[in-house]
Amino acid sequence: MYAPPGVKVNPNMAVPEKMRAWVLGDPGKLQFTEKTVPVPKRAEVLVRIDAVAICATDLEVIAHGPPALVQGGLPFNKNWTPGHEYMGTVAALGPGVDEFAIGDRVTVEIHAGCGQCKRCRMGMYTSCLNYGLNYGELDKGHRANGFTTDGGFCEYAVNNINTLIHIADSMSDEEATLVVTAGTAMYGLTELGGLIAGESVVVIGPGPIGLLGVAVAKALGGSPVILTGTREARLKKGLELGADHVVNATKEDAVEAVRRLNGGKGVDYVIECSGAPNAVNEAGRMLNRGGKICLAAFPHEPVAVDVAHLVRNNIYVYGIRGEGKSATHRAEAFMREKRFDATKIHTHTFALEELPEALRYARDRVEDAIKVVVKTR
Ligand SMILES: [Zn+2]
Ligand SMILES: [Zn+2]
Repeated sequence: MYAPPGVKVNPNMAVPEKMRAWVLGDPGKLQFTEKTVPVPKRAEVLVRIDAVAICATDLEVIAHGPPALVQGGLPFNKNWTPGHEYMGTVAALGPGVDEFAIGDRVTVEIHAGCGQCKRCRMGMYTSCLNYGLNYGELDKGHRANGFTTDGGFCEYAVNNINTLIHIADSMSDEEATLVVTAGTAMYGLTELGGLIAGESVVVIGPGPIGLLGVAVAKALGGSPVILTGTREARLKKGLELGADHVVNATKEDAVEAVRRLNGGKGVDYVIECSGAPNAVNEAGRMLNRGGKICLAAFPHEPVAVDVAHLVRNNIYVYGIRGEGKSATHRAEAFMREKRFDATKIHTHTFALEELPEALRYARDRVEDAIKVVVKTR
């Protein structure tokens, strides 16, 4: 059985030597294979993965490569496992770890920064200056699960303790996979300077981050919280998650609707989660003067932006990368308190061996899929 030197194990939770794992071959080609269970080093634990949610970025990485960066390059044919929104149970402890015990249920955030660069020291570990430098001579200790190191479409993964969040017993495995998504929305709002209760918020784009952005903004006291989008079913979810108003942009002008719904002056914050080419310009016109835009999505091509409008109106624009500053811990606290029900965005569940079908559901939004979760057990 699994008993590497220096690693603490527990007979009540025996770990096998080998595990089932998906690995990425050529672009778009996944193989279900067997891999050796990895070994945690100092400040790391081995997590038995119990559930993993599929994210649009997984689809991107599997089909095209970036933003994954494995051994300094594209992630193809490197025996590499994608997947980054997972949760599980602590199964073994690396040397010196006493923050977690074997058997603890945890959810896992993606980025463990190097811990030694300027940005990591500021808590901005998702913007680590040593991103991807975790191989060979360049081992700075940076890890990003499912991007620069092995991810969660398998049975076991090694994680730095900084990336682990204890979860409440009342939280299901499926719900726990959504903590990172809620944490991303929360990080965005933190980076804007913190949403003050009673301030007005628009969320553009009812994808998973947008929908949980609505939930988080409402839980933080945003008023009103307005969701704009193009699909009626998604907008309905937004109402269930706490939106005060929804605007279907295929039926009315979203900018006009937002201004009307908030007394004509525009709102204090826009969280842009659509990546639509004109979204920054629309966001700028939904805001009041001095308002702030949080960019949590982006178009694939460079776009024209009316900078004069932004400058003349003192509008702040923030690019947001991932889930920094321990926002996931705050998201878990909100979810533990049932301040919002993230499970409303979980629509489908598949077994690990059905991953290709699960990816298809997520990609093609089969049966209105939002968050598709893969269970390993
Ligand atoms: Zn993701
Ligand atoms: Zn760093």
